[in-house]
Amino acid sequence: MNVAEKVVIIGSGPAGLTAALYTGRANLEPLVIEGAAPLGQLMLTTEVENYPGFPDGILGPELMEKFRAQAERFGAKFISADATKVDLSKRPFKVWEGEAEYEAQTIIISTGAKARMLDVPGERELLGRGVSTCATCDGFFFRGVPLVVVGGGDSAVEEALFLTRFATKVTLIHRRDALRASKIMQDRALANDKVEFIWDTVVEEVLGTDGKVDRLMLRNVKTEGVTEFATGGLFVAIGHDPNTSLFTGQLDMDAAGYITVAHPRTSTSIEGVFACGDVVDHIFRQAITAAGTGCAAAIDAERFLESLGH
Ligand code: NAP
Repeated sequence: MNVAEKVVIIGSGPAGLTAALYTGRANLEPLVIEGAAPLGQLMLTTEVENYPGFPDGILGPELMEKFRAQAERFGAKFISADATKVDLSKRPFKVWEGEAEYEAQTIIISTGAKARMLDVPGERELLGRGVSTCATCDGFFFRGVPLVVVGGGDSAVEEALFLTRFATKVTLIHRRDALRASKIMQDRALANDKVEFIWDTVVEEVLGTDGKVDRLMLRNVKTEGVTEFATGGLFVAIGHDPNTSLFTGQLDMDAAGYITVAHPRTSTSIEGVFACGDVVDHIFRQAITAAGTGCAAAIDAERFLESLGH
């Protein structure tokens, strides 16, 4: 039988790696199941200018390599594959990676979330080159150009309003003729003369010149008319999905599938299982907030192990 790990961390974005750093420095020798595509959503970004401590900015992938190296320095061990199954019904908990089985006294879940994408030609290729899924992260890079936001919910409207600080104008493109966003957000967008709307329309293709977005092919879903639309950037704001399918039926989640925790603690509905980062947070979604809750989860796990006499 395996010797149970004291801490297994599932996921390796800013939350998971901060939890690994803290539990590593507490001599708990954390095992990080970092995933087949490790290091989280910052791997999909270019410049990060709002992570404190880097006054000149840093590339997202470089920042995440530093997170990983710092955790490794304090004894974190890594499995570079996805966790495929968990059993949280009793302690020690069990986590599988294919045929390999690991036991854990505590588990920290930091599997993150992913932004929904339109899945149209050009979108993935131009991600980070004019296509973005985060206005807070990238808006600053789009000064003095017209921008497009796709979506009709609170996120899309919030991002459109935020982007008016930088853009010459923001065109919100929605697939229906009515917004899903709350009334107050709608009113703000409608009252802002920098925000324009294109209704009943979907983006069919993202096009670029010299590797940068400069236009979109749009299709009106009522008339089927196709038009080309010039833009300096495309913000896709059609929602996020938490990566929680591994835990379905074992942990309490909200209606959207985010793991529920006892804020400000990181405890889940199962004693000894903690969750942090975007897998619990549909509001802030920043690397710094994820790192903060990763630290909290590490301290929660440490105290839990202490209470068991470890
Ligand atoms: P959401 O409410 O699920 O809205 C997603 C929007 O994207 C919908 O308008 C949807 O269109 C559209 N959409 C989905 N898939 C699409 C596709 N493939 N192509 C084109 N359009 C697509 O997601 P959200 O706006 O991220 O909000 C998530 C939750 O966070 C909500 O509960 C929201 O209220 C909350 N939130 C609140 C605030 C705030 O209060 N300040 C800010 C952000 C988010 P349809 O309308 O046609 O379905």
